[in-house]
Amino acid sequence: MPDPDAPVIVWFRRDLRLADHPALHAAARSGRPVIPLYVLDETPGVRAPGAAARWWLDRSLRALAGDLQARGSQLILSRGVAAEIVADLAEETGAASVVWSRLYDGGAIVRDTALKAALKDSGMEAESFNAALLSEPWALKTKTGGTYKVFTPYLKALRASIGDMSLHDAPKRLRAPRSWPSSDDLDAWALHPRRPDWSTGFDGTPGEAGAQARLHHFIDQDLAEYARGRDVPAGDATSRLSAHLHWGEIGPRQVWRAAEAAAHRRPHLQASADKYLSELSWREFNHEILFHHPDLATANYKPAFDTFPWSDTHTALAAWKRGRTGYPMVDAGMRQLWATGVMHNRARMIAASFLIKHLLIDWRVGERWFWDTLVDADEANNPANWQWVAGSGADASPFFRIFSPMGQGERFDADGAYVRRWVPELAKLDARYIHAPWTAPDEVLARAGVTLGQTYPRPVVDHDAARRRALDAFKGLSSPLTPP
Ligand SMILES: Cc1cc2nc3c(=O)[nH]c(=O)nc-3n(C[C@H](O)[C@H](O)[C@H](O)COP(=O)(O)OP(=O)(O)OC[C@H]3O[C@@H](n4cnc5c(N)ncnc54)[C@H](O)[C@@H]3O)c2cc1C
Repeated sequence: MPDPDAPVIVWFRRDLRLADHPALHAAARSGRPVIPLYVLDETPGVRAPGAAARWWLDRSLRALAGDLQARGSQLILSRGVAAEIVADLAEETGAASVVWSRLYDGGAIVRDTALKAALKDSGMEAESFNAALLSEPWALKTKTGGTYKVFTPYLKALRASIGDMSLHDAPKRLRAPRSWPSSDDLDAWALHPRRPDWSTGFDGTPGEAGAQARLHHFIDQDLAEYARGRDVPAGDATSRLSAHLHWGEIGPRQVWRAAEAAAHRRPHLQASADKYLSELSWREFNHEILFHHPDLATANYKPAFDTFPWSDTHTALAAWKRGRTGYPMVDAGMRQLWATGVMHNRARMIAASFLIKHLLIDWRVGERWFWDTLVDADEANNPANWQWVAGSGADASPFFRIFSPMGQGERFDADGAYVRRWVPELAKLDARYIHAPWTAPDEVLARAGVTLGQTYPRPVVDHDAARRRALDAFKGLSSPLTPP
């Protein structure tokens, strides 16, 4: 006879919310006691969050713990090899089942598959749910039964697949177990950056309430301008939901539904809402790519790039990381990243392109820097976008499309507001020269208080020469650039 008081363990991972959480909903509905668990996982092969992401995680866990407490529950924290911790806790508490939300990176899949089998072998129930995606990465198939490799048809298929969007509310109360297992102290995990602590200016309000507030602010204030303004780094037109989505403080179904409802209420928002939902769908597409290419962060999606002659002289890398390349748009982006843990998408593209094409540094080096410094660093979105910029990725921008940081600046930061904000030593420079200060006459520089090579660096590479060098390197690739 199954014990009705045997608890359900809800293993939280990147689903740090209570609403629209199918695993938590199932646990609450079972009527059993619920033990919410978070493990700071040390499983080999599972990518550990970078330093900036750990800062976010720290705050997000505090928010989740508070939200659970308000429902009569408690978040149990433990650190180590997750499968061992979950299995031990299940045994210790006499749990009837363990439930969680699925993740789609290779390391997590291997870990979770083995754990599910082990739990079932020992007579427990184990069930996983989808809380992170609109569509599971294996669900959409092309007419010939293959996986999508091109975004536009994928988007069409995704939109056609979207059906019932009803969402689960957060449970009002959670039944507590007879006694609570022991928990780590979050402070002892020291998730906060140290030596140096560069987190003082980090952007965002981690946690479910912060995510909901951000979504509503965006829908009410910024959605109308999104289609026009999303490419302007100095503007505020994007949703800034990426870290919330990465940590699962909000689900894509909640976001999708809110944008569609806004467009339904105010039809003039439709074009902007469509653009927004299409950007959100890149997240889905990238998860599909990651699921089918678990080594996305380390291997070229297009193997033709395996012979690319990357430069191994990395003296310019330090300048790139510190935002001192002498190219103001690149430097503004890199400094925004360091100061806030986020970077506007347009600046990410410009900075990544500069590293890969102007400096000929392997995209994996940049991917790892972003992994450590972005609060939204994501197993799917980060490598997929780096490969997109490099040209080695799925449906990627061709390698030979080389961004000019000056041209990008003139187009997307015409008055130089973004550069002035993040590169204050150029703040007084005439807009005509702000994206190429080395072209300014001496008296213009002097009036703005700029001394090249002293107050602001000269360019680390010459744009035209770097462009030619990149195109020559690309021409050397032998095999055709077709996807695998
Ligand atoms: C080199 C590079 C690295 C990147 N690394 C990451 C990363 O680690 N994590 C991450 O979430 N995004 C990454 N992006 C994508 C994009 O820059 C961010 O998602 C976006 O800037 C987040 O701001 P937002 O939430 O205001 O976006 P919005 O414009 O409001 O978009 C809404 C949501 O759609 C999704 N989205 C938007 N653009 C993309 C995109 N190009 N690819 C995938 N999803 C997208 C995000 O979840 C985002 O929150 C990267 C882009 C580049 C060029």
